[in-house]
Amino acid sequence: MIDVASKFSSGVKSLRPSEIREILALTENKKVLSLAGGLPGPEVFPKEELAAIASRVIEELGDSALQYSPTLGVMPFREAVADFVRGKGVKVTDNDRVAVTTGSQEAIYLLAMTLINPGDGIIVESPTYLAALNVFRYYGANFISIPLDENGMRTDLLEDSIKKAKEKGINVKMIYTVATCHNPTGVIMSDDRRKELMEIASKYDLLVIEDDPYSFFVFDDDVNFTHLKTMDDEGRVIYLGTFSKILAPGLRLGYMIADRQLVRAVELAKQMVDLHSSTLSQYIALYAIKEGVVDRTIEKARKSYREKRDVMIEALEEYMPDGSHWFRPRGGLFAFIYLPEGVDTSDMLQMAIDRGVAYVPGRSFFSDGSGANAMRINFSYLPPDKLREGIRIIANTAVDYLKAKGKVAS
Ligand SMILES: *Cc1c(COP(=O)(O)O)cnc(C)c1O
Repeated sequence: MIDVASKFSSGVKSLRPSEIREILALTENKKVLSLAGGLPGPEVFPKEELAAIASRVIEELGDSALQYSPTLGVMPFREAVADFVRGKGVKVTDNDRVAVTTGSQEAIYLLAMTLINPGDGIIVESPTYLAALNVFRYYGANFISIPLDENGMRTDLLEDSIKKAKEKGINVKMIYTVATCHNPTGVIMSDDRRKELMEIASKYDLLVIEDDPYSFFVFDDDVNFTHLKTMDDEGRVIYLGTFSKILAPGLRLGYMIADRQLVRAVELAKQMVDLHSSTLSQYIALYAIKEGVVDRTIEKARKSYREKRDVMIEALEEYMPDGSHWFRPRGGLFAFIYLPEGVDTSDMLQMAIDRGVAYVPGRSFFSDGSGANAMRINFSYLPPDKLREGIRIIANTAVDYLKAKGKVAS
């Protein structure tokens, strides 16, 4: 037999499997409560409305909706996206262009292709979204990790970290942030810190990627924040949005709103990657925006996930051993839990799966391999009683794990 693997490019050889997708495979066909994935709750999908829309789109627009279409997206949808985000408080300027992408994941990939030379410095929150880390790593980025707390990225540490990286000869190019309902912690960056971040970006001439899947369904009413894109007067913020969390991830529709020159470069990159995103999905989402389905789904998601978040917090407080701590998610789909020192959540995972529950070990979310005692759990997918049960099992597993290691926990 041919040794196919010997033919792989060095780039592909460097790829490591996504821990989440591996866990999903591991838990498939087993009766495992999965708190690992990033799946929206199926109760939120507007199934009947989308079925009706899909059939109307094909009847009314079949000749265009089933056809190839422009790389940056079909014009009425690009316009609808710009209006839609404007209506949510995101500034879109005359110099901006919208690029429709195959999920935000493709936008992140296209930006890496467009912007990163091996060795370039990228500032990220620590922890951060692991799928972005993986792309940036593939393109040879140097990570500059900034810790975060309940008010988001510690911008007071930003300038020193940039100076240090520059002293090492690193070309610091951009900041990647999930400022609103951060993945994996669910925290929101305060406006003071956002202002500081923008000032530093300006001073050091950095681009800012604002990855924003969650800001349209913040759970708590007392939260005020301004999108980085809205604060930006210099065209340095690249705004990423997605329909995955506010309509349906299966449509694979995201968008980038950024400086026209940058979007032009992204267009050339996208021509190579996939020619264009699904025409059919774009028209379906266009109708869904125009007919209010998206806004209704957003409200439904907000209510359903807020309820589940509260159930989760209650269960964490009830069951987790002393010495555990976590951030209270203000939106999004995830919570990030720190278990007592001495727990290694990668090591504990098999034990948890054997007992019927899965989570994502914390290490994957750090560019430097820290986070051994942390884990990310998803609270949007399971119904409340199952979510509670999953957390109870995780807590018991952690207690038994510590006992087996000769460490105590209560
Ligand atoms: C869910 C999520 C995305 C969206 O991915 P899609 O490719 O649009 O499905 C992007 N960034 C973050 C931080 C996310 O949590």
